[in-house]
Amino acid sequence: MKFKSTNNKSEIVSFRSAVLQGIADDGGLFLPIEFNKLDEDFIKNITSYSFQETSLEIAKLFSGDDIPETDLKNIVYDAINFPAPLAKLNDELSVLELFHGPTFAFKDFGARFLAKTSEYFLKNENKKTTILVATSGDTGSAVANGFYGLDNIDVVLLYPSGKVSNIQEKQLTTLDKNITAVEVEGTFDDCQRFVKQAFADEALKKKMTLSSANSINIARLIPQSFYYFNAYAQIQDKSKPVIFSVPSGNFGNLTAGLFAKNIGLPVEKFIAAVNANDVFPKYLDSGEFTAKPSVKTLSNAMDVGNPSNLARINSLFMNNVNSIRDVIFSKSFSDKQTLEEIESVYKKYNYIIDPHGAVGTLAVKEYQKVNNDKSNYVVLETAHPAKFLDVFSDEIKSAIVFPEKLKECLQKEKRSVKIPNDFNVFKNYLLEKN
Ligand SMILES: *Cc1c(COP(=O)(O)O)cnc(C)c1O
Repeated sequence: MKFKSTNNKSEIVSFRSAVLQGIADDGGLFLPIEFNKLDEDFIKNITSYSFQETSLEIAKLFSGDDIPETDLKNIVYDAINFPAPLAKLNDELSVLELFHGPTFAFKDFGARFLAKTSEYFLKNENKKTTILVATSGDTGSAVANGFYGLDNIDVVLLYPSGKVSNIQEKQLTTLDKNITAVEVEGTFDDCQRFVKQAFADEALKKKMTLSSANSINIARLIPQSFYYFNAYAQIQDKSKPVIFSVPSGNFGNLTAGLFAKNIGLPVEKFIAAVNANDVFPKYLDSGEFTAKPSVKTLSNAMDVGNPSNLARINSLFMNNVNSIRDVIFSKSFSDKQTLEEIESVYKKYNYIIDPHGAVGTLAVKEYQKVNNDKSNYVVLETAHPAKFLDVFSDEIKSAIVFPEKLKECLQKEKRSVKIPNDFNVFKNYLLEKN
């Protein structure tokens, strides 16, 4: 496929450029000009293919001629090297576990695929690229793990000192080699500002090649469409319509679902499940979008007041809110409801769902109230509950099986470069580092 910007329909770029540029020159986000479809027979026979085989077929559609198939196979098989099992709660409801990657959140899919494609595209260039990522938690560790040990690419993570959880901080600061964690005595917004300023800084631009790995990059979304197909493959009764409930913040995950639908996955409906940050359901209700400052919730990875991928969703539906409503239902839930839902899912199904996934199961219930149909409801479970120990009751906490790899990480020594809230200090650090 070829890609265009959501702002300027005339700038057409290859997959390679879309990945390396990240964001279009006009500030828009890249989208395929048109979606090629997967072969119908492939979808009909999807159960006979492995997750990796299916992923490769989809990746081929998006990357076109930019990567020869043997190389693409290496990239995909290397990036998607962990499963996404569908856990059945009852005949109608299942949970797609997207947390079996190295950092225990679904962001591993996007970060690993972006890392491997970037490495591939940059390997013949005789220069080093430095990736800057501001993080408030999950993104940074997924990106760091994805790029860990790659030649030619350094990763600098910026995180706000004292404002990420203990587990998250350990995940950010215990990698060595090409990963450095910079601990800023400021807020997440300060970290993000440093990254923006660095991209605009002439002295830095002259000295080094900077790049970004945040979720506006199309290479983070493409691999997320893989698991929608793999979920479909695992559904037993495919005669019933399929409805995905997606706990959403920046709406990258939901956009990837729309990609899957556009290339041929039979999806009846998407449910955009959100916490108190409710700009999207408000938008569907009123037809007018208004961004809001984000508010802090228990499902903190979804605390977004101005979702970056809304530009893509609007563009995919030709800016027609009615067309969006036909495909996406959305609803917001409070922290109180989320906590009750965690308990209820545990009691009813003996399943421990994390606060993000709980917003997803709540939204299914809400949808079922108004649609009394028989469907396959698939809730995307975006993170492992062990990452959010503080929110659970003692009974549930003691039942959580803490992954070995997380335990190991907690025992490692933290290594960070602590800097004051001053861009010039960060800039000098970068200049001296290279
Ligand atoms: C990032 C994240 C989300 C939100 O995903 P978007 O693609 O930004 O909508 C949900 N849950 C978890 C655990 C996350 O890390």
